[in-house]
Amino acid sequence: MNSQRPPQRPARPPLTREEAMRRQAYRKMQQRRQMQRRVAILAIAALFIIFTVILISVALHRSSEPTGLPDTTTTAGTTTASPATTSPDETTAPAAKDITICIDPGHGFDDPGATTAHLGELTESDVTLAIGLKLRDELTARGYTVIMTHDTNDIPAGTPAGEQYLFGLAKRTAFANEKKPDFFLSIHGDTFEDDSVQGSRVYFQSITGADNTAITAIAQNFVDALTLALPDAKKAPMLKEMADDNAYYVLRNVDMPAVLVEVGFASNAADAANMLDEAWQAKIAAALADGVDRNFAQ
Ligand SMILES: [Zn+2]
Repeated sequence: MNSQRPPQRPARPPLTREEAMRRQAYRKMQQRRQMQRRVAILAIAALFIIFTVILISVALHRSSEPTGLPDTTTTAGTTTASPATTSPDETTAPAAKDITICIDPGHGFDDPGATTAHLGELTESDVTLAIGLKLRDELTARGYTVIMTHDTNDIPAGTPAGEQYLFGLAKRTAFANEKKPDFFLSIHGDTFEDDSVQGSRVYFQSITGADNTAITAIAQNFVDALTLALPDAKKAPMLKEMADDNAYYVLRNVDMPAVLVEVGFASNAADAANMLDEAWQAKIAAALADGVDRNFAQ
């Protein structure tokens, strides 16, 4: 035969039932695989879109956040300056509060305050200044404006003998009355003949002739904050109201709400050890800042 026709494929024999089933199963498997591939591609695309949307929204949120602080807050005795350029720290800084606190570390300069065997070389004025400076930093970090009646115990060079640089009680109260802070907080350490007596005391007096409900509540808030920070039944912080004419000089002579905190007894060994301990000083400074927050947080 010389036929040019290509050889014809032999007709397929009809599939057996078993073969047909195998072929159908194979086709189904192919379809399933294709479907799985499509689902996987769709899932990846969806994840990519979600991720992109999250990135965009985070970027938008960041750019619309306020910086939180005005460029510069300046008060007598304290300057809180923020750099003009935005630094990463600025977004975490607390919002400035419109509250000024005057801290008065008791004694200082040529008045050492209490001296006891337990305090050794150091004096009450060293303790009150150390706590006052820690409190200043704590309150500043919480957004308050802080002024201090003094932030050093070193008498400036050239001060005439007998001249007390911002030391005298009259000078301190005149300073506060001129600056008009919202609150005045004087820090002291106590002594007592019975050296077993210990613990902190929060003294206050009503402003003469005025309703003392507000100042009582303010002082109680300090007692509560100290009680939380220094839980010890033996030396629970106490609230002490003073008669107007017998109150501590600073309490009688400032025009704004004021408390005087005796942080502990320098005549008691345990209290004196605390008063000299930096970690304890930081703890009581934080507790006093909590007291301020209880009264003035906005
Ligand atoms: Zn004192």
